[in-house]
Amino acid sequence: MKKKLILAFNELLSSTKKIIIIPHKNPDGDAIGSTLSLNFFLNKIGHKSKIISPNHYPDFLKWMPGQEKIIKFSDEEKKSKTLIQSADLIFTLDFNNLSRIDELEPFVRNSKAIKIMIDHHENPDNYAQITYSDSSIGSTCEMIFDLIYQLNKDQIDEKIATCLYTGIMTDSGSFRFPSTTAKTHQVISKLIEKGAKHSEIHQHIYDSYTFNRMQLLGTALNNLKKIDSLPVVYMTLSQEELNQNKFKKGDTEGFVNYGLNLKGVLFAIIMIENEQDKIIKMSFRSKGGFDVNKFAKIYFNGGGHVNAAGGISRLSLKETESKLLSVLKKIKI
Ligand code: 5GP
Ligand code: MN
Repeated sequence: MKKKLILAFNELLSSTKKIIIIPHKNPDGDAIGSTLSLNFFLNKIGHKSKIISPNHYPDFLKWMPGQEKIIKFSDEEKKSKTLIQSADLIFTLDFNNLSRIDELEPFVRNSKAIKIMIDHHENPDNYAQITYSDSSIGSTCEMIFDLIYQLNKDQIDEKIATCLYTGIMTDSGSFRFPSTTAKTHQVISKLIEKGAKHSEIHQHIYDSYTFNRMQLLGTALNNLKKIDSLPVVYMTLSQEELNQNKFKKGDTEGFVNYGLNLKGVLFAIIMIENEQDKIIKMSFRSKGGFDVNKFAKIYFNGGGHVNAAGGISRLSLKETESKLLSVLKKIKI
């Protein structure tokens, strides 16, 4: 983290401020972990800070310390608007383009608050007055650790350590993606020293399947298709299949990664129908040099990272599958 940035944060936080912290829509472990830990820290050093999430997050994050106080814009629109209007600072975490917060975008854009982006995705937009963006870092939680460590490391307690550990773990595929560095492990070591209980956190996140979710995974795996002559596999889940297995938000998290467990596969895709939003939500994962961030951006209105990205299709599930197959004929993997 650059000295100039630390100075800017120090200056900004030197007097009491009303602060709002916002994760991206459909927040994941890193988004929730980073917002919760920053919120604990800011409260501890005397600020009035609150988290507003655009919408709900999966059940497997609902054990995290402090999560019960997260305000959901989708449930409490009026309260959220008032809070955003009167904020001095708005931290936006784990995303770099306001389109990622959907209906919240205009309120944040028009707010008089100083905006701060802390994020690790590629191609940051320039809506923030202070931007701490670094796509070489594996998670926003690792960046928040750096920030808190530089500002006042004694404030890192068990709750902050638990939230940061969770986000670093989930965004690194449990410390196995290439973005995991020696520094990541040094951070993890400090978080365990500060009280993060790694075994318990793993169990909360990964060993919390409902029976329906496990059966939905079975359906997705049954639907897995291999593309002849390419190291590519894809899965689909239709709305009907989701309904049959009593789908709940977050149930499909991580399914796409199973494709990469196949020997030789370098690119895995999942397409999930969402009848309510009239979209097909797509997730892309790769191994090695194939850049799924670019792929998502060019063909499916999305983005993310080199090895993990997402996107959207407004065609039907069948048409999306056809588009994917024709696009795959054009690219080199
Ligand atoms: P996931 O596939 O788990 O939803 O997302 C993988 C990565 O891609 C995450 O870092 C996420 O922030 C990003 N991502 C997912 N969906 C979208 C999208 O529709 N647009 C953009 N720009 N990024 C996305
Ligand atoms: Mn992240």
